[in-house]
Amino acid sequence: MIKKSKKVKDYKLLTKALPTLRYLDPHSVFIHLQNSRCKTYDVSVKEGDRVLFGEQIGVRHGGFFEQPVHATVSGTVGKITKKLHRTGRKVDVIEIKNDFLDTPHESVYDRPDAIIEKMTQADMVEIVKEKSLVGLGGSGFPTYIKLGTKEKINTIVINAVECEPYLSSDYRLILEHPEEVITGLKYIMQALNVDHALIAIKSMKNPLYEVLTQVLEVRFPELNIQVVKLGNYYPQGWEVEMFEQALGIRVPPGELPTKYGIIGFNVSTTVGVFDAIKHNLPVTKRHFTITGDAVKFPQNIFVRVGTSVKELIDVCDGFLDVEEDIVIVMGGPMMGTSVTTSDVVVSKTTTSVIILKDIQYKEEQCVRCGSCVYSCPTHLQPVQIMNAVKRNDKDVMKGLNANECIECGLCAYVCTSKIHVTDYVRKAKKLIG
Ligand code: SF4
Ligand code: SF4
Repeated sequence: MIKKSKKVKDYKLLTKALPTLRYLDPHSVFIHLQNSRCKTYDVSVKEGDRVLFGEQIGVRHGGFFEQPVHATVSGTVGKITKKLHRTGRKVDVIEIKNDFLDTPHESVYDRPDAIIEKMTQADMVEIVKEKSLVGLGGSGFPTYIKLGTKEKINTIVINAVECEPYLSSDYRLILEHPEEVITGLKYIMQALNVDHALIAIKSMKNPLYEVLTQVLEVRFPELNIQVVKLGNYYPQGWEVEMFEQALGIRVPPGELPTKYGIIGFNVSTTVGVFDAIKHNLPVTKRHFTITGDAVKFPQNIFVRVGTSVKELIDVCDGFLDVEEDIVIVMGGPMMGTSVTTSDVVVSKTTTSVIILKDIQYKEEQCVRCGSCVYSCPTHLQPVQIMNAVKRNDKDVMKGLNANECIECGLCAYVCTSKIHVTDYVRKAKKLIG
């Protein structure tokens, strides 16, 4: 694990003190019709149709669920084309040309508090399902499935740790909208009939502690919610690590936290619950970090889902280097994936885009230092898995539990020989299914 020390540069400083910029008027949005969980889809509109903000325009089909697709601006439907997805595949996207009127669909309306107070778990699950809310911290897992758990939950933990370097959009979201975070959590507590919740932050995030405790005390004195400060290391935000540090419960690999009476939600997802329940609003906008050492003015930006990353880079005044000399990472620098072009769009699960100078490291031979083994938070043996991948020995990959890898990126980060060890472990996971 990477412990924070005075010598480690805090890359979050590039953006965390800056108020979130609102960029809500792109000329067009390009909405993904496919993603890593949904391969097929149906659209209910055609080129030239007028659509309204928040209107359902289609549905994606996953293996065991369906996800409605919504318009994130009002305007005119364009063509279905392809764009690169962060998974590295080209996927279908539907364009909506913005009319800049932001006319809401009739399905978007404010729900009175008196109605919300009477809602059951089933009512709330149905709303977040209709509004297509998924894990906005990057998992993309359908929230209605999580919220619909039948297990007895004792404690809800909101994950506000945001431990990956560079990312600070959750930090700004809490600082600027603490009431939305807490109200979203209040709705989750109501749905799951739970009277105790924690908001987990890093111990260095004192401004968050102050703002959250103050708002809880003044505005929500009836709620039993505590703000807990956890360690300043990576991957403190990994759910298993967070639960262990916050509650002293280690969830074994392959088991669900709900079996132990706990459940976790990311901060953005919690605000997504607020938007869905209070405003009957699907995920149409998100907070997002665009940063790195190769972009002129790093920012946290509030954007429409479907906004072009190229356009957002222009909002940040462009690259510091020529595009050929940079690397674009979709997601955090540890767990994200690099893409070969800026012609990508912000999806619901894009937490950030990191733009870095392309420094080519030459991989050396493994020197068997064991650093990758010592740093692995899931106690795997990355070097042995890598060797098994090189031999294509699937039995050994299985025996080494490669599929328990959480793709945190630490083994590659610490590797003395600059080997992309994580890529090998990822490959092992794919090979053994
Ligand atoms: S990427 Fe996987 S194998 Fe490597 S340190 Fe993280 S959990 Fe361990
Ligand atoms: S950290 Fe790199 S050099 Fe060291 S054992 Fe692991 S793969 Fe080999």
